[in-house]
Amino acid sequence: MGREIHLASRPHGEPTAANFALVERSVPEAGDGEVLVRNHYLSVDPYMRPRMNDVKSYLPPFAVGEVMDGGAVGEVVASRTPEFVPGDTVLHQYGWREYAVAPSGAFRKVDPAVAPEYAYLGVLGMPGLTAYVGITDIATMQPGDVVFVSAAAGAVGGLAGQFAKLLGASRVIGSAGSDEKAAYVVESLGFDAAFNYRSGSVHSLLRDAAPEGINVYFDNVGGDHLEAAISSLRAHGRAALCGAISQYSAVEPPPGPRNMGLVVSRRLSLRGYIIIDHWDRMPAFIEQASAWLREGKLHTRETVVDGIENAPSAFLGLFRGENVGKMVVRIN
Ligand code: NDP
Repeated sequence: MGREIHLASRPHGEPTAANFALVERSVPEAGDGEVLVRNHYLSVDPYMRPRMNDVKSYLPPFAVGEVMDGGAVGEVVASRTPEFVPGDTVLHQYGWREYAVAPSGAFRKVDPAVAPEYAYLGVLGMPGLTAYVGITDIATMQPGDVVFVSAAAGAVGGLAGQFAKLLGASRVIGSAGSDEKAAYVVESLGFDAAFNYRSGSVHSLLRDAAPEGINVYFDNVGGDHLEAAISSLRAHGRAALCGAISQYSAVEPPPGPRNMGLVVSRRLSLRGYIIIDHWDRMPAFIEQASAWLREGKLHTRETVVDGIENAPSAFLGLFRGENVGKMVVRIN
């Protein structure tokens, strides 16, 4: 038997464990042209929260009574196609289940000799590309820029700040939800400064960290972080609007930043993006990030939760800041 996690009901506001169900299913057989994979690592990601609502967006909502799909890495255990052999390590989007069967085109081979399997869910996967594209193509960061990154101890934010430094930012500032995380962002990730956003108003904490202002804001959080960043952006500043995790469970439309007038007077650019539109950048990104990893220039960290039965609590932990770096679930 194989276990999987289904969406049991749609949350109103903050999701809870009751919104998920652990279900046992017999292990499927691979049909002609199909591959059967036993998963080793599952990704839990903030973007999954909006997909729990019955709202049309850039991805369809999760269906009640169906598996939570998403990134996963596993090992081919049966193949009825010449493209894969048992033992191959593959990346796919079939999500929170122990076994996945699908046509071969749904799987991409990855090399566990280049990086650990979970790296393909983090630094060498979707979060890494999101950080890279946000800094380069969306915020068009230039050498010498002062950059501010929110959720800086998380998967995307921690990489965005490091990429900014490697690409020539003069100063990179991060925010995170505890003093320990702020210290980690400076000491391990090499940011120039970081603050605990719970220790005061984001507006004044950012002003203190960047008295001369910022050129680029990489937004993972929205809300008061975005408003504070708009106040600190210098003329012609750019913001890459990557996510708004502080608002994903809002039951009322959240208020917008109160200082939008500055967007005009300072000629700011605020640009949202979704990484699936930038998949063509993956080969260039992998080449660059692999080189930085080989040269020891990137610090990566994962928070690993064991057991598929704990995937819901790992996911809920993202909204309580229980992760440092990429949150993954290990199945063994
Ligand atoms: P993280 O690893 O950053 O985990 C989420 C973190 O968000 C938590 O660790 C927590 O850190 C912080 N957080 C949670 N709630 C709040 C809150 N109310 N206010 C401030 N911070 C909060 O996740 P990812 O790196 O995977 O994702 C980061 C962002 O990027 C998300 O907004 C996500 O939706 C977005 N994203 C966007 C993509 C796109 O295509 N545009 C693709 C991938 C991700 P702390 O302890 O510091 O509060």
